Amino acid sequence: MSFSKLNEPTATVDAKNYVMAEQNDQSALTNKMRAYLEAIYHLSDKQTPIISARLADWMQVTPPTVTNIINRMSQAGYIDRGNRGEITLTSTGFALAETIVRRHHLLECLLADVIGVPWHLVHQEALRLEHALSPELEERVEVLVGDRTTCPHGNPIPGSPTTLTQSESLTQVVVGQSFTVNRINEEAENDTDLLLFLQQNRLIPGTEFTVVNSLPTHGITLKHSGHMITLPPHITTILWGQL
Ligand SMILES: [Zn+2]
Repeated sequence: MSFSKLNEPTATVDAKNYVMAEQNDQSALTNKMRAYLEAIYHLSDKQTPIISARLADWMQVTPPTVTNIINRMSQAGYIDRGNRGEITLTSTGFALAETIVRRHHLLECLLADVIGVPWHLVHQEALRLEHALSPELEERVEVLVGDRTTCPHGNPIPGSPTTLTQSESLTQVVVGQSFTVNRINEEAENDTDLLLFLQQNRLIPGTEFTVVNSLPTHGITLKHSGHMITLPPHITTILWGQL
């Protein structure tokens, strides 16, 4: 199958590596492993080492479930374990994870921009589709979403040219400052109800707010177009933006 007649093929090296890795891999790369690779990739952005308990939190499963799959992924050569049990991706695991995340974000853009799926649902829908995407279809999706460099939640698409935009945590903003949302923490995308709340209150990339009150233990009050909202601390920590 090829879509090359539809458009100039835009070579995606990552996608090809991914297929090669899948073909070379004797132990089946299951959808569950793909989901864990994706989570470990996102957690690798943080400064703290990735331990099983943190991964269990992200995946919303029990620690023994994580141990089981982590052992299988280690045997398959996707991850390494440090002396203290910290988890890191091997180069094979990283290449696979990057491709999975890239496909996920491209699909989110397609669903939001082209198909018109509501913003708070595109993450879950992309999770369903991403494992079935062929490299040919990925190229076609890439053409359809144009020059997007981030997903609809503001998270960078791996392999896209990065336009480095300064991003500050909402928790760092002081009263009187303006704050334009540009990114929602990737982990928060697993919570559809939370995303719906964010959307209903325009807490989505591109909206400019003014900080009218900030009490670290109680939350931060924001104002946009005459509408005021007080966000509790667990929500202020997932929002990033420009001052
Ligand atoms: Zn996203």
